Amino acid sequence: MHFKQRTLEQTAACSGIGLHSGKNVNLAIKPAPINHGIKFIRTDLQDNPSITAHFNRVVDTSLATVIGSDGCIVSTIEHLMASFAGLSIDNAEVELDAYEVPVMDGSAGPFTNLIKTAGIREQTAARHFFVIKEPIILEENAKTVAVYPGNTFKITCSIEFDHPLIGKQSYSKEISDNVFETEICRARTFGFLHEVEYLKRYGLARGGSLENAVVIDKHQILNDGGLRYPDEFVRHKILDCLGDFSLLGMPIMGHLVVNRSGHAFNHAFLEKFFSNKKSWETSIVSGSSDRPSSRP
Ligand SMILES: [Zn+2]
Repeated sequence: MHFKQRTLEQTAACSGIGLHSGKNVNLAIKPAPINHGIKFIRTDLQDNPSITAHFNRVVDTSLATVIGSDGCIVSTIEHLMASFAGLSIDNAEVELDAYEVPVMDGSAGPFTNLIKTAGIREQTAARHFFVIKEPIILEENAKTVAVYPGNTFKITCSIEFDHPLIGKQSYSKEISDNVFETEICRARTFGFLHEVEYLKRYGLARGGSLENAVVIDKHQILNDGGLRYPDEFVRHKILDCLGDFSLLGMPIMGHLVVNRSGHAFNHAFLEKFFSNKKSWETSIVSGSSDRPSSRP
């Protein structure tokens, strides 16, 4: 766990296509000063408007996480945000020349490699954490998102799909850079063939292909080479959670338990979390002790 804020050593850049738009986009991730947070800048629009990656800027969660402000949007931010969260990057400026972050291979692996190659710099200021004091739980039908007090950041995630290749999967880990890089960041997004066909019929998922998603029909995985991890599906859900929960703007010190959730329900939880102010405090955490010290 990192207790000082971090940014990139130098600019990292890549290009690719948007999952839903199918359009080519150039992306540059730049270092940013302390307490800057993560901001997206649309270089293709007049005056280069910027949007802070914060849950109060979320405007849509139906197919991907979309943030917006004053009529300008940035779509499908969750896998890049997962890379920032997984590598404990607090401050960065993300420039892009279209409305959608490139999908790359459908995981956070390419962004993670890009950031690691550019280098990560520790900054002088302490990180502030949301330290959980009492549980916050959101339940609806079979879906649950909850957070409990703890001295680390841990995620437990479960999924259940009525499909023989997925079924019930569960994964629980304390998240560190190393765990993120080796066990989570390469897990790809997934979809069922009939859903992909449906989306394409309505002009969505235009950029979607076997190059950037695991696609499953009734009986089999259509991608050559199969899965990257035997439980790649639940690992991708953890990746999505890292991205979605990073929109709180500060890391969590506690145990996040997520059962059968998705972007929309994760977002509903963030709103409940933020309004339950008595259940958490924002603190810096000293590296030599597990005990959080309250901000004066
Ligand atoms: Zn995803």
